[in-house]
Amino acid sequence: NEEVNIISGALELKKKTASQVMTKIEDVFMIPNDSILDFETMSAILKKGYTRIPVYDGVRNNIVSLLFTKDLAFVDPEDNTPVRTLCEFYNHPINYVFEDETLDVLLEEFKKGRSHMAFVRYINTEGEGDPFYEIVGVVTLEDVIEEIIQSE
Ligand code: ATP
Ligand code: ATP
Repeated sequence: NEEVNIISGALELKKKTASQVMTKIEDVFMIPNDSILDFETMSAILKKGYTRIPVYDGVRNNIVSLLFTKDLAFVDPEDNTPVRTLCEFYNHPINYVFEDETLDVLLEEFKKGRSHMAFVRYINTEGEGDPFYEIVGVVTLEDVIEEIIQSE
């Protein structure tokens, strides 16, 4: 029955990790930080319907800010405001989790924190240079909740 499903879903949280439930970086709707908030860009953002939009610099896994769709409320498309200006103004915090973080820990973080989205990263040790963080996706509270209620 329903209760048993929810309880077993909650127990599953300890076994599942961020990378198993995240939205992969290539599927994330994001915008470059040098874009201009003209009619076209603002329409594209609103049409997608996401609440949170990562903003990147140069390459997609170099995320530098987070834009909330509601931040657009006072933006006039005629003003050609740079995305960067709006991001600097609102300055929403960015949270990270490691790809092998379990969902029970993630749920605690989301409950504590102000933000319901985290960027999933790992330490890339391949290649000649120093190890570096690489972002592989985004995970939201919704992704964790889905695991709880969807369980058989
Ligand atoms: P909210 O429900 O808080 O209004 P939302 O509908 O934009 O936000 P969530 O409900 O947090 O998004 O997440 C729904 C799904 O969409 C999740 O699988 C999440 O990983 C994914 N998601 C969230 N933001 C983006 C985005 N910018 N691009 C692609 N996928 C996203
Ligand atoms: P370096 O100074 O060695 O060139 P860096 O300044 O790019 O490297 P680090 O010194 O390793 O990066 O880390 C500084 C901060 O930037 C850390 O908080 C780290 O989390 C963050 N960071 C580094 N690389 C990335 C990346 N690709 N994506 C997101 N955050 C990153």
